[in-house]
Amino acid sequence: MSDRGGIICLACGTELPESLRWTASLRCHSCREVNAPLNTDFARWEREFRLMRSRLEGLRTYSAEAPTAA
Ligand SMILES: [Zn+2]
Repeated sequence: MSDRGGIICLACGTELPESLRWTASLRCHSCREVNAPLNTDFARWEREFRLMRSRLEGLRTYSAEAPTAA
């Protein structure tokens, strides 16, 4: 598992190449080729991950826009 904040293929769980991330693809090339079904476990994990990240982004934005008044 990479910690580079990568997006994984929701069918086989491998990290998506940079080119596919830009297209917000859910599956890697191989899985798209064979039209592999999405793995709900991976999908759930990816959802949690994105949710967590968007919350972190929100916090970061908030603290950047509203620096501590003290
Ligand atoms: Zn795949």
